[in-house]
Amino acid sequence: ADRLSATDLTAVFADFQRAVERDRDLLTELDTAVGDGDHGTNLDRGMRAAVEALAAIPQDTPGGVFNLVGRRLVSTVGGASGALYGTAFLRAARAAGAAEALDAATCTAVLRDATTGIAERGKCATGDKTMYDVWMAASTAAAAAAGDGLPALLAAASTAAGAAEQEMVPWQARRGRASYLGERSKDHRDPGAVSSRLLFGCFAAWADA
Ligand code: ADP
Ligand code: MG
Ligand code: MG
Repeated sequence: ADRLSATDLTAVFADFQRAVERDRDLLTELDTAVGDGDHGTNLDRGMRAAVEALAAIPQDTPGGVFNLVGRRLVSTVGGASGALYGTAFLRAARAAGAAEALDAATCTAVLRDATTGIAERGKCATGDKTMYDVWMAASTAAAAAAGDGLPALLAAASTAAGAAEQEMVPWQARRGRASYLGERSKDHRDPGAVSSRLLFGCFAAWADA
C-alpha cells in the first residue's frame, strides 16, 4: 500500500508487540551483558500495555495511534527505553498531525522528527552506540528512498536499520548503562538497537504484505 492508515499502524504495533514478546529473552540477555538485564521485560510490558490501549480506545488517525502508544510506553516502562521510544512516538504523532493516512513524504517527516526526539531526550549522537544509531540510519535511508514510494521507503529503512545494528557491535558505548563498561562494552550488541531493528522490520513486513 502507498499509504499507512490508523488500522495499518495499529497492526504494525501489534506485530511489534509479538516480535518483542518472542525475542524478550534475547533482549534481556543482551541487556544483562551490558546493562541491568531488563530491556526485554521493559519493552514487553510497555508494548502489551500499548496494544491493550489501542484495542480499548481505537484511533482513527495514525497520529492518534502514535500518541497513544507513546503515552503508554512512557507510563508503563520505567527504564530509559520507555522514555526514548515514548518520545519518538509522541514526536511522530505531532508530525503526523490529523492526517487520515501517511504517504511517503509524511512518513519521511515522521521518522525524521521521531529520530530527533530520541537525540534530544537521550542527549545522544551518532556513534554513541545506542538505539539512536539505528533510528538515524533508518531515517537517512528513508529520506533517500522517499521518491520511490512508501513500500520502498520502509524496505530501505529496515535494511539500513539491520546494517547499522550489525555495524555498531564493535564500537564502545558512550551513552546509557553500557557506557559504564567503557572498553568492555565493545563487541556486544546494543539491546535498544536490536529492538529498534525489530520495529523497522515490522514496518517493512507490513509494506511487503
Ligand atoms: P535501562 O538502561 O534504563 O535499563 P532499557 O534496558 O530498557 O533501559 O534500554 C536500554 C537501551 O536504551 C540501550 O540499549 C540503548 O539503546 C538505549 N539508551 C539508553 N540510554 C540512552 C541514551 N542516553 N540515548 C539513547 N539511547 C539510550
Ligand atoms: Mg536495562
Ligand atoms: Mg533498567
